[in-house]
Amino acid sequence: MKTVWILGDQLRRDTGALAPYKAGEVRVLLVESTAKLHGHRQRLHFVIASMRRFAEELKAEGFKVDYRKAPTMQKGFDEHCQQHKPDEVIAMSPMSYDGLQLLQRNNVTIVPNDQFLCSAEEFAQWAGEKKFKMEDFYRWQRRRLSILMDGKEPAGGRWNFDADNREPPPKDGRRWPAPIVDKLDRIDARVIADVGGYGKAPEGLWSTTRKGALARLRQFVDEVLPLFGPHEDAMLKSEWKLAHSALSPYLNIGLLSPAEVVSAVEEAYRAGNVPIASAEGFIRQVIGWREYVWGLYWLWMPDYRNLNELQADQPLPPSFTGAATDMACIRHVVDGVNERAWVHHIERLMILGNFTLTYGAIPQQVVKWMWHSFIDGAEWVMLPNVIGMALYADGGRMATKPYASSGSYINRMSDYCGDCRFNFKERIGENACPFTTLYWDFLARNEESLKSNHRLGNQMGSMRKMQNLDLVRERAVEIRAAIANGEL
Ligand code: SF4
Repeated sequence: MKTVWILGDQLRRDTGALAPYKAGEVRVLLVESTAKLHGHRQRLHFVIASMRRFAEELKAEGFKVDYRKAPTMQKGFDEHCQQHKPDEVIAMSPMSYDGLQLLQRNNVTIVPNDQFLCSAEEFAQWAGEKKFKMEDFYRWQRRRLSILMDGKEPAGGRWNFDADNREPPPKDGRRWPAPIVDKLDRIDARVIADVGGYGKAPEGLWSTTRKGALARLRQFVDEVLPLFGPHEDAMLKSEWKLAHSALSPYLNIGLLSPAEVVSAVEEAYRAGNVPIASAEGFIRQVIGWREYVWGLYWLWMPDYRNLNELQADQPLPPSFTGAATDMACIRHVVDGVNERAWVHHIERLMILGNFTLTYGAIPQQVVKWMWHSFIDGAEWVMLPNVIGMALYADGGRMATKPYASSGSYINRMSDYCGDCRFNFKERIGENACPFTTLYWDFLARNEESLKSNHRLGNQMGSMRKMQNLDLVRERAVEIRAAIANGEL
């Protein structure tokens, strides 16, 4: 009998290698590798409980399922082969470079990965030798997949409504739709006892079934999507989710497919239930950003994971892993990660990313922490987003400039600064906001590497003209030492 090997981020019955088979025709292998069991408690629970439930669903359908716990994926595979002697092992192309190497080493028959709308090969062909950017890729995807198109023209008359989606936090005291929370059962209890990890224990926020993922998609489209867009970049202490979908965990392990998510959103727009700016902004995240990041990962691996263009050399800030900090923004966002293994994309980019960029944290340590701490973490997501977007460690292959900003940006886009002991306007002295000091120090420290970047021309000019730059840089030395010592 043949074996279909299903990896832990491919949990869909109608996808990949399992799609053509009925119960009784193949045996299914799933390997729970203890080598991968490190990270946030909720992330580990999410992946393992989803795997175990998926295995139960397949058994209920009549499949023979070999669900194995093993020290490594290789060991689990070897044990399966020794016991069952499969005629052939088939798997869907993995979501990681190392996973692909593993399958190739073991002569597994690999079928294309259909959890994305654009394959790695199609992306590489599109990219070719030209200079490219995400917006071009996104338009290419819209056209070729006929998503949100009126004939040859983009629906609503424009490709991109991003300019409408950068408003600061609303001041009208509005209530945002509350997330769905499921009751945990005995499978959850067993998984929680098995997996360990750091951060708060799961409480049902993240579903581990397709049914639960579909319920969250429905709620997003009906209640949240009409509000999505204008405040996409805003950050609020009292509201962790705002109008973000929080559907990426389900997309990233196969409980939802990008095609069904995008169709549901387009349908809501066509029915007149959702403004074009909301539908377009969300669809851009799914068929634009998500697929672009996936394509870049495969295009640039394996060298990409080792890049450190700015030669950042500081270990991960201790405040990310338990040390107390007086920085209200960092405290709030790191608490959010501990609380639910998720914070939204601006908190990831402009708080965690901006901080580690200007502080000079080693990119590979930041990648690892984010990958293991976020519910939707995966190497293919984190490498381009951290190495490329957040830390500019690829020297500008992905982003056209470093996403560094001072405390003023954070003050404008959030309500964090109001009760912080630092002053976002100050760059020297005891009350200087670390973001503001480190921002100017970052530009000065990396002047040689960044001086030819025309998008930074104004900022570089202001930095050079700054009268007290020496004092700023002295303060930056103190701040960086305090961060490294876990005092900030
Ligand atoms: Fe963060 Fe600076 Fe604002 Fe404090 S003042 S919350 S450290 S940006």
